[in-house]
Amino acid sequence: MPVIDPTQQPIAAEAIPALKPPVDPATLTHKQLKQGEFWRAIPAYHDIDEATFLDHLWQGKNSITTSEKLLQTIQDLAPADFIEDVREGFRRAPMAMRVSPYMLSNIDWSDPYNDPIRTQFITVASRLLPDHPKLSLDSLHEQDDAPVPGLTHRYPDKALFLALDICPVYCRFCTRSYAVGTNTEEVEKVQLSASAARWAKAFSYIASRPELEDIVVSGGDAYQIPAKNIKIIGETLLAMDNIRRIRFATKGPAVMPMKILTDTAWVDALTEVAEMGRRLGKEVVLHTHFNHPNEITWITEKAMRVLFERGIYVRNQAVLQRGVNDSKEIMQLLVKRLGHVNVHPYYVYQHDMVKGVEDLRTTVQTAIDIEKWVRGTTAGFNTPAFICDAPGGGGKRDIHSYEYYDRENGIIIYTAPSVKKDQIFTYFDPIDLLSPEAQERWKDPVVAEEMIEAAIRKAGLNLR
Ligand SMILES: *Cc1c(COP(=O)(O)O)cnc(C)c1O
Ligand code: SF4
Repeated sequence: MPVIDPTQQPIAAEAIPALKPPVDPATLTHKQLKQGEFWRAIPAYHDIDEATFLDHLWQGKNSITTSEKLLQTIQDLAPADFIEDVREGFRRAPMAMRVSPYMLSNIDWSDPYNDPIRTQFITVASRLLPDHPKLSLDSLHEQDDAPVPGLTHRYPDKALFLALDICPVYCRFCTRSYAVGTNTEEVEKVQLSASAARWAKAFSYIASRPELEDIVVSGGDAYQIPAKNIKIIGETLLAMDNIRRIRFATKGPAVMPMKILTDTAWVDALTEVAEMGRRLGKEVVLHTHFNHPNEITWITEKAMRVLFERGIYVRNQAVLQRGVNDSKEIMQLLVKRLGHVNVHPYYVYQHDMVKGVEDLRTTVQTAIDIEKWVRGTTAGFNTPAFICDAPGGGGKRDIHSYEYYDRENGIIIYTAPSVKKDQIFTYFDPIDLLSPEAQERWKDPVVAEEMIEAAIRKAGLNLR
């Protein structure tokens, strides 16, 4: 071991031969988080001070749920035809609208059409595209794999517990648009409200299954589970011998980070469950859902620091969305910025085939291309896996692991031998991104079925 002599003069940086020149610190944009009272640029929030804006109750009360409320809040920041477009989009959207003041303040209102946060939460009619013909509500068949309502047991050792059906915001792209949010003019929802009887059934099923080790508590959204119920769910699950891991899943840190700073009861409840887990040698973590680097501000950094100090590990599951994060630069920045605030990028999902959001989906090839650029930019443990949750209940598949990809017609064939042996799962690229000839072929349902069968044949699987 060489000994370092503290009296030795430091070596001048210039004296070290440079293999690579140092980068200009100004280019490290992942560290440059939005600062200050940025919300004051929104007319309705002009006089809102920091303490009020950081109050999670104020955020909840002032969330935007109608186009009228949106108009009152942003006033003349956006052009009148944009508001009319939103009004029409609202009538046609399958998801209810709910946008927190925090999110609203992070939208660039000088260019709302191209803003990545607007795109995720506020539907504009003029951008909507017709749904893919092979799309179905509950495309992941979560209800088919549910032994009790709201408990999906698809994989051998883990299950998804949908504790409730409300969220701090409603995302246009939600996979659970079959259940989450209030009924809209387009969709009647399945009822999954929080009820003691339904929870009791889910708990006894979990306890009766020795193979179950890992429970995802989601919804809806764990942010909306009151502190005392976080404790009940956490303590009940941790008390089961079979359970080794719990994840509370919440969009919250991305859309309302201030709750971590001002809802002390909720954060303390989560901390107590995590500490109880640690005493029992069990893991309790938070899974969240940032999609764009603009969602991460000084408030997020402060909030994530609280969780980090309390030893609560946070992982991120992003959704690849056209016009939001479907470029290598944005995805690289998101991944680096998440790392900067101690959130581990875990997954980037290919967008599920859900209703009314064809404009947000992109091709599997896009995911493959972006993955190639993201891998290698930072630590391997901060590099997300790009996956496709195979429609029809195949579960999550590495985006690259397809059996066959007909790029011309946008047909991707997956299998999932450890989840559903002997089944074939198909995912489809959005039709408007295919060649004009392929778009023409999809118009004829007979031709479409032939194309799908041909792709399955070419995959050369020997299953059926
Ligand atoms: C995503 C998911 C899980 C958790 O899967 P991981 O790959 O471990 O994150 C569990 N159950 C269901 C039904 C899921 O969709
Ligand atoms: S927070 Fe999650 S469950 Fe709720 S609407 Fe958004 S994606 Fe769906």
